[in-house]
Parts: sequence; C-alpha cells; structure tokens
Amino acid sequence: MSSALPLPTPWPDVPSDARHRVALLADVPPGELLIHEMYLSVQGESTFAGLPCVFVRTAVCDSRCKWCDTPHAFNRGERMTRAAVLNRALAFGCPLVELTGGEPLLQAEVFPLVRELCDAGRTVLIETSGAHDVAHLDRRAHVIMDLKCPDSGESHRNRWANLEALKPTDQIKFVIASRGDWDWAERAIREHKLDERFECLVSAVFGGPKPVELVEWLLVAKLFRVRVQLQMHKYIWDPAARGV
Ligand code: SF4
Repeated sequence: MSSALPLPTPWPDVPSDARHRVALLADVPPGELLIHEMYLSVQGESTFAGLPCVFVRTAVCDSRCKWCDTPHAFNRGERMTRAAVLNRALAFGCPLVELTGGEPLLQAEVFPLVRELCDAGRTVLIETSGAHDVAHLDRRAHVIMDLKCPDSGESHRNRWANLEALKPTDQIKFVIASRGDWDWAERAIREHKLDERFECLVSAVFGGPKPVELVEWLLVAKLFRVRVQLQMHKYIWDPAARGV
C-alpha cells in the first residue's frame, strides 16, 4: 500500500491500519529510544509485585486496548541514547528493572538494552501486549505477556506462536473486563495448558469486575495454579496517578 508509513523496526507485525500509531518512531535513529518516563516505584503486578522496581516506560503503542491506563504514553516521549537509558536505569541502584510501555518491543534498541541490563546483574522484566515476537529477547529476562481478552478489542492481535518461545519462568497475564472475558481466559488456559507451562496471572480491569468476583470464578474453575492479582499501585496511589 503506497500510503503506508515505513515501519520503524524490523518487526513486520504492525498491521497497515495501525501504522499511523507508530509513526513517531520513524524519526528515532539507530542507537536511540523514545522514552516516555523513567522512575522508581514498586512493582504493582506479576509475581514480583511489591518489590521496588525501576520502570522504563517506552513511548508509542500500536494497540488500543479499550481499558488502557497509559494512553499518555502513546504520543509523547523523549529521545534518549541507549547508553543514557542504561546509565539512568542503573543509577537508581535497584536490582529490579521493568521495561513497559507503550509497547517496548516496537523499538529495536530494547533488545540490546535488555541484554545490557542483564549483563549488569539486574533482574529484568518486560511487559508486552503479546502482539509482537518475543523470541529474540535475552533468555535471562522475564517476559510478562498479555493474552488480550475480547473486551480489550485487541484479542485478534494475540500472537499465539509466542507460547512456543516463552520459558517456564515467564508470565502470562489476562486482564478481565467481564464474565465473558473470564470464560475466554479459562478456555485459553485449559486449551493451551498455560497454568502448567507458565506463571499465569489474572486481574480485573479497575472499575470492572470486583476482585471478589474474580476470586469466585477462579475457585469455581479449580484453576489452582492461576494467581489473582490486584493492580497494587491503584490501591496505594490515586488510580489516575501517573509515574508511580
Ligand atoms: S498494549 Fe498496553 S499500552 Fe498498548 S493500548 Fe494495550 S494496555 Fe495500552
């Protein structure tokens, strides 16, 4: 299609109708990243929840989940060299570092950055929408990958082939907005034996199903290896607070 914008990364899996969302990355030269924010906080989700963590939030996402709580990262970011991002992340002195977004895997420099953070002895987490290939990430890093449920509006982008690239220490996250989402997640967990292969996490969209409902659904399903989690930072701080 002649009107399509050039892709900013080697990743071919941004559909043509979403390429305008990644246009900002076209001006970012090799060796640099577009960073929305970096800060020290506590990890709010995943099996690392509660631990102090440096967050490196990349700008730009090619998805548009209906319940997204970080739309401010879609269009605003500061260009930084990879070395500057690395040095700033290390300078916090915290052993846990998470790359999140936006969608980190849209930016090619994320891959060497993850390797360099691992080389520096950091435990590295990468949160990704699940729409992009995770196979090239450093095996020392922990991937926290969404499988998008139908109510997100993005479940057609789930890259199921990623299940073959993930490690037993990686984590699969379902964000549940309704009973229909839960039924879909339960089917996916059983069909792909996700709870036997990976850490499996379910959380409710803030303002969606009550945590007690999610717990009841989980117990009735007898999915005893699946972990319910709350978005901890939304209980510690104002749910609309940013940079926390
Ligand atoms: S993938 Fe993440 S950042 Fe992108 S729209 Fe969905 S929730 Fe928001």
